[in-house]
Amino acid sequence: MNDRVKTLNDAPVRERSYVLYWMVAYRRATSNFALQHAAALARSLRKPLLVYEPLSSECRWACDRFHQFVYEGMQENARRFAAKGVGYVADLSPKGRLLELAGDACVVVTDDWPCFFIPRMQERAAELLDVKLDAVDSNGLFPMRATERVFLTAASFRRFLQKREADTHPVANPLRNVPPMDRCELPELDLSSLPIDHQVKPVDLKGGTREAERVLKRFMSGRESRYAEDRNVPDLEATSGLSPYLHFGHISAHQVADSVESPEFLDQLKVWRELGYNFCAHREDYDQFESLAPWARLTLEERASDPREHVYTLEEFERGETHDPLWNAAQNQLVQEGIIHNYLRMLWGKKILEWSASPRDALTTMIELNNKYALDGRDPNSYSGIFWILGRYDRAWGPRRPVFGTIRYMSSKNTYRKTRVRRYLERFDSGCSN
Ligand SMILES: Cc1cc2nc3c(=O)[nH]c(=O)nc-3n(C[C@H](O)[C@H](O)[C@H](O)COP(=O)(O)OP(=O)(O)OC[C@H]3O[C@@H](n4cnc5c(N)ncnc54)[C@H](O)[C@@H]3O)c2cc1C
Repeated sequence: MNDRVKTLNDAPVRERSYVLYWMVAYRRATSNFALQHAAALARSLRKPLLVYEPLSSECRWACDRFHQFVYEGMQENARRFAAKGVGYVADLSPKGRLLELAGDACVVVTDDWPCFFIPRMQERAAELLDVKLDAVDSNGLFPMRATERVFLTAASFRRFLQKREADTHPVANPLRNVPPMDRCELPELDLSSLPIDHQVKPVDLKGGTREAERVLKRFMSGRESRYAEDRNVPDLEATSGLSPYLHFGHISAHQVADSVESPEFLDQLKVWRELGYNFCAHREDYDQFESLAPWARLTLEERASDPREHVYTLEEFERGETHDPLWNAAQNQLVQEGIIHNYLRMLWGKKILEWSASPRDALTTMIELNNKYALDGRDPNSYSGIFWILGRYDRAWGPRRPVFGTIRYMSSKNTYRKTRVRRYLERFDSGCSN
């Protein structure tokens, strides 16, 4: 557990009313090291625990879709914490209530999450709070700060993990024997009253731990046995669909890893997923073009002014108005459902690189569209996926091509040949009616 706890300020633990858990990333009541740490402090101080779960309308890309999904998780958290005698305050106000609630707190515990606005927000809180602030890492199986090393390939990270002893698990019932508190606040969600993007509409997929567990069971009871063979076939839907739940912390990587046996799946979950956390935790420039390996930057820059057969603007990409029906279908799925099938997500990115005026424009377009529409966007793996398109975690490939240089190339023609997309095309060929 020591590898997972980081104290963010020099302020003391004070004699006040409760321990405050400021829940910003692991939005769940189980399998959560941060909650476990807060509960252990509450027990040792003999104080109740108050969980504070805000959802900011001020952060970039805040929209009806993400608010609805997170709110469904809040409704469930309110019920779960009340049943355990733990205080719970959900908050949809633009400015948040951290300072007000921390005024009565002995100590504050929060989630150590390595990207988007969260690290900056917590640095600022550390300056403002007059009580101790601990950030705890419950992102994955490997504690992000157990090494300073940044892994530049999945193979080197995999080898590193294989040599490590198994890390500890979060305990099953962290809230046992915490002094009780009778406080539960859950504001009504009125999307139209919030200053967020109302064009990005809610989707059918529901948020929350119970839904996450249902999606996990669906995977285990049918898709898992087909995963190795069919995961790259858009028509067959063999992947888990867990990434939105992992992203919003509605389920833990530990719970998923304990339930699934497929080695191919576990490699995605333990190696590829946590590779992105490793990068973001140690590289502040994780979202900058300059963070690419020198070979990738060089080859892209050498080819930056190559003539392109097609060049689209961000708006044309966003509306799914390219000449390529398969690309448009993937974009339509993103806009309509908030997800893209992984195989087509790779093609989606490669074509944005090919059809943008420059690699830097392509990067801006991918970040904007992925983070605006994808339920699992704004995540360390958003940046590993997007930067993979530009060569991160990859090697040089021949032959040297226009625009790409030695960056790995993908084409829609090969995709039609290699995999099955007929049903996918029928489903998402209807235009971006968001
Ligand atoms: C351009 C591009 C953008 C991407 N943006 C995101 C993003 O915003 N958020 C995100 O979580 N993933 C992103 N990915 C990675 C990958 O597409 C998704 O993690 C995966 O499609 C999620 O679907 P699933 O949960 O059904 O995955 P499954 O195949 O069921 O895998 C299980 C879990 O393993 C992890 N995983 C699987 N594939 C990858 C991968 N290639 N890299 C890292 N982790 C992986 C995810 O946590 C996933 O939920 C992106 C990939 C590309 C090429």
